[in-house]
Amino acid sequence: AELAIAVRRREFVVHYQPIVELASGACIGAEALVRRRHPDGSLESPDRFIPLAEESGQISAITDMVVELVARDLGEALRADPDLHVAVNFAADDMKGGRLLQMLDRTLAREGIPARQVWLEATERGFMDLDSASATISAARRRGHAVAIDDFGTGYSSLQYLQTLPLDALKIDKAFIETIGTASAKSAVTLHIIEMAKSLGLWTVAEGVETQAQADFLLRHGVDCAQGWLFSKPLPAGQFLAY
Ligand code: C2E
Ligand code: CA
Ligand code: CA
Repeated sequence: AELAIAVRRREFVVHYQPIVELASGACIGAEALVRRRHPDGSLESPDRFIPLAEESGQISAITDMVVELVARDLGEALRADPDLHVAVNFAADDMKGGRLLQMLDRTLAREGIPARQVWLEATERGFMDLDSASATISAARRRGHAVAIDDFGTGYSSLQYLQTLPLDALKIDKAFIETIGTASAKSAVTLHIIEMAKSLGLWTVAEGVETQAQADFLLRHGVDCAQGWLFSKPLPAGQFLAY
């Protein structure tokens, strides 16, 4: 009930984490990350309310609000720079049926933002219903959106998703990036994930990159892009544009 009130009062803001091309060091885009802003100004992490929103059927209202905020915050920058993109997170519910794409079409057309500059991120949970996920992804790609599989390697990873779905990019979860340079078993898996993504022709984006040693390793092994505290924390829109 408290979340419903927050949704009604639109108590949400979006922060933007720069996505950096490893070879050039250039910022090529950002991931939109939602926060709840309480009336006292404090920010609440999405890990605390997104799962609740998914369970209680309120996620689509939050998704719509995030897309509205992204269009308002970054519309001008996206129209000015066709090479800039913004990646938005979508929940499992969003990936079912045609609602999401109708909403995106409407909002982006109104703001004059090309679909090509808005990337869709969904986790494996969003792909469990293979048929409807496949239909949504194909329809999104026909419009020009790029689609990434998020948090790859966590949860119930099924290689079937990678083989069956027409994806553009794979985001390597920070759980794997953390192990770079350590002797853990996961560290060996990281290289296999990179190789697999490459052989499937997918773009790779590493998440949670905190050290230069990790960035060097990823560049050496052909990972395309990275995001993480090494480059920048998620920033309010104005600070992201300055970055
Ligand atoms: P995610 O999509 O995996 O987003 C990456 C998370 O890693 C973000 O947490 C980001 O702040 C954090 N992070 C980035 N760089 C580093 C780093 O170098 N080190 C460490 N330790 N962490 C780093 P955040 O913003 O708290 O978001 C948490 C999760 O909430 C997201 O995970 C995503 O699953 C979900 N989420 C955020 N915004 C939305 C949204 O608009 N819609 C939906 N459906 N889910 C969202
Ligand atoms: Ca994400
Ligand atoms: Ca992720």
